[in-house]
Amino acid sequence: MTDNYLNLVNSGPAGKLAKKLGLPRPAVLRRHHQGAALVPGPLLVLGAGAGADSLACELLGWNLDVRRHARPGEKLGAVVVVLENVTAPGDLGAPILELGQAVRQLARGGRIVTVSRPVQETTDPAEAAARQGIDGIVRSVGRELRAGATANGILLRDGAPVQAASGALRFLLSGKSAFVSGQFITVHTSGQDSRQDEERPLTGQTAVVTGAARGIGAEIAAVLSRDGARVVVVDVPAAGEQLATVANRIGGTALQLDITTADAGARILEHVQQRYGSLDLLVHNAGITRDKLLANMDAARWDSVLAVNLESQLRVNEALLASEVFAATGRIVCLASTSGIAGNRGQSNYAASKAGVIGMVRSTGVVLDGTDRTINAVAPGFIETEMTAKMPFATREVARRLSSLQQGGLPIDVAETIAFLASPGAAGVNGQVLRVCGQSLVGA
Ligand code: NAD
Repeated sequence: MTDNYLNLVNSGPAGKLAKKLGLPRPAVLRRHHQGAALVPGPLLVLGAGAGADSLACELLGWNLDVRRHARPGEKLGAVVVVLENVTAPGDLGAPILELGQAVRQLARGGRIVTVSRPVQETTDPAEAAARQGIDGIVRSVGRELRAGATANGILLRDGAPVQAASGALRFLLSGKSAFVSGQFITVHTSGQDSRQDEERPLTGQTAVVTGAARGIGAEIAAVLSRDGARVVVVDVPAAGEQLATVANRIGGTALQLDITTADAGARILEHVQQRYGSLDLLVHNAGITRDKLLANMDAARWDSVLAVNLESQLRVNEALLASEVFAATGRIVCLASTSGIAGNRGQSNYAASKAGVIGMVRSTGVVLDGTDRTINAVAPGFIETEMTAKMPFATREVARRLSSLQQGGLPIDVAETIAFLASPGAAGVNGQVLRVCGQSLVGA
């Protein structure tokens, strides 16, 4: 599905007219392509203290043009604000006002990333106030930025040093996070490896993607394969032909399977064990909608949505976590939705299933804490797919413009976020829900 309005306002005269009339002017987003620079210009590190200094040193090691002070007039590719040591609201003013000046110099597709600590880990009210204040700052700046720039935060858990932020920071600075804004990623140190092969971080790994015959699932399979993984694509037998096409395109294997069958987990493990030995990543992408107002909801619509979107994931996870075929460093990534966060008219069944996925991920995350396995969820907002192409024109147009980036995301945006959560750099990310929604107002 194409966003014709976005194309129009980015084509000269129409853009000027839109500006004059005060109409939304969505930018063409800076997305990743092979060999692309991590950021579109010099990177400014703000914040006082040893943490800011050592992060600036680490970033120099990534061959970036790093500054501790902005030079007048130059365009900045990104600003990283290190706020790990704030203890009271008064500590925020100086670095944040400096950020305000730097924002004026931010390049198109630029990035702002804060690095701080979780509010839940302090009992001091002033420190908690300062930490929570950062949440308000990031979410507000994200709404003020233009030209496809984004603002996000990284939270260092359990006293982790700033270096623990590096995997998440690389993702948030890159074009891979083009549709992620106003979000926080919590990280801890466990198993972190910042020396991953950036071009093919999943080399040697085996991944399974459910619902991969089309749409977001097919794109996830392609990106995981690009990143070096051997990919098994799963879908219902009725989609067998499309599934085979996807498998052939990426050099993977196809497994025709309805994931609601009782032994789906065992079937997936058996397929992977026979061909590849062990499983490193499972992406629960398969999902359906059967919309109806609750007053008109019937058991068939309710049960089928819960069965595909939630109960199958619970059953498959149980099989995986009990199996040695699922690697000791295995990852699970589940597709949730902003409907599961904000609710949506006509979607009580879908929202129950997607909110249920979030509950499952948080609970399983607690069980996996302290191991090298992780589970996380990605919650897409409005993504341009066959599913959203079926929406009535006016509803679709409103959904697109209702985000800070004033447009829908693409399947590649969801796929890149999942590939990040599967990568060595995300070893310290567990039990979280990452929205890929362009900072949509829905559920904000
Ligand atoms: P889609 O309908 O295009 O693709 C879903 C795939 O899942 C299909 O190939 C389908 O055959 C498969 N599938 C359905 N039931 C299955 C079963 N029982 N066993 C195996 N495979 C099955 O959907 P999409 O838009 O690509 O969405 C993918 C995921 O992202 C879903 O979980 C969806 O809820 C979620 N999501 C999508 C959006 C969006 O805007 N498109 C937004 C939020 C969340």
